[in-house]
Amino acid sequence: MANVNINTKCVQGGYHPGNGEPRQIPIIQSTTFKYDTSEDMGKLFDLEATGYFYSRLQNPTCDYVAAKIAELEGGTAAMLTSSGQAANFFALFNICEAGSHIVASSSIYGGTFNLIAVTMAKMGITATFVSPDATDEELDAAFQDNTKAVFGETIANPALTVLDIEKFAKAAHRHGVPLIVDNTFPTPINCRPIEWGADIVTHSTTKYMDGHGSCVGGAIVDSGKFDWLAHADKFPGLCQPDESYHGITYAEKFGQAGAFITKATAQLMRDFGCTQSPQSAFILNLGLESLHVRMPRHVENGQAVAEFLEKQPQVDYVSYPGLASNKYHALAEKYLGNGGCGVVSFNLKGGRKAAEAFMKRLKIAAIETHVADARTCCLNPATSTHRQMTDEQLAACGIPAGLVRISCGLEDKEDLIADLAQALAGIE
Ligand SMILES: *Cc1c(COP(=O)(O)O)cnc(C)c1O
Repeated sequence: MANVNINTKCVQGGYHPGNGEPRQIPIIQSTTFKYDTSEDMGKLFDLEATGYFYSRLQNPTCDYVAAKIAELEGGTAAMLTSSGQAANFFALFNICEAGSHIVASSSIYGGTFNLIAVTMAKMGITATFVSPDATDEELDAAFQDNTKAVFGETIANPALTVLDIEKFAKAAHRHGVPLIVDNTFPTPINCRPIEWGADIVTHSTTKYMDGHGSCVGGAIVDSGKFDWLAHADKFPGLCQPDESYHGITYAEKFGQAGAFITKATAQLMRDFGCTQSPQSAFILNLGLESLHVRMPRHVENGQAVAEFLEKQPQVDYVSYPGLASNKYHALAEKYLGNGGCGVVSFNLKGGRKAAEAFMKRLKIAAIETHVADARTCCLNPATSTHRQMTDEQLAACGIPAGLVRISCGLEDKEDLIADLAQALAGIE
């Protein structure tokens, strides 16, 4: 579906039934696939033919949905994973090994920060974290001879900083490595990082793509633009023979467009098995069919709620890139032309006590550790995810005790604002 608008790709991309075939994506609920001869199956194991043999590596239902996500992001190949965490791990580990180094924005999802800073460090992969506001000089200084990738989030969860994708892509390319961007919050409806120079895009499909709080999942999309062979010394896994597949060289055999995802499927899925179930992929696709209709409403509600909160006397400050007062507003206008997302964070002057009292009174917004759902939800880190920390420790890491993150759903914005207003009134 090359020549159609992204709205049409959301509805019809990825799966194109033939005459008399099911209109909706079939759920191929089968672990395994049958072959007439051992020769036929042998070709699959040699990566000489494409096809399915075991759903830990690939399943047709998952591949239809991955193909749709590749079309939405403007990439050449994609794969689904069991979660967003698995997507980011695979995207990095596909080109890193013990002794490698990653440059990452410090403003990223806590789970991804732990993955890179703690768990991948145990594998011998080190990282340097840089401010999303780093200058070219500061970025250049973060690179080492063993740097293999740069990582950032288009809109960071939960800090809501906006990544200067072009600046980060240029820095990565000056040092001969790809930029990997987690595009979970804007989705390809509001930003397509590949158009700004990103090489690999990842998603927690658990969030807006699914959009209904139904299935945990992830996705990786390759732009097909990074020339691995031009930097063959840095990427031996792609540019040297894989002994576990009879010595094929991914970058040569599958080319720039296919090497990255083929290697991630053939090696990482084979060995780690973080695969998405066909049932989840089917449900994810139902979400994707309305992504282009839902995202504008999430943004409309987020903008309205942010503007309302900014005027309330109980509110210390509001973070939302769509606000003219926001530090990242200019970057949001550049990269997020259609608006960013429905997640807004704000700090209550009354601190932890006020946040607790406020959230207890909410009737529409539910208290959840989730975001990007059709139903509005909110969270006070000080009394939930970060409750082991003192007010002083919280302030030091930029999460004041009164901070509330609200993920605006698809309800009527007047109702959301009325709910917030009555809850705020209760803490006066
Ligand atoms: C939630 C999230 C993740 C992790 O995704 P899971 O599907 O929960 O594993 C990664 N990145 C971002 C930006 C997220 O919001």
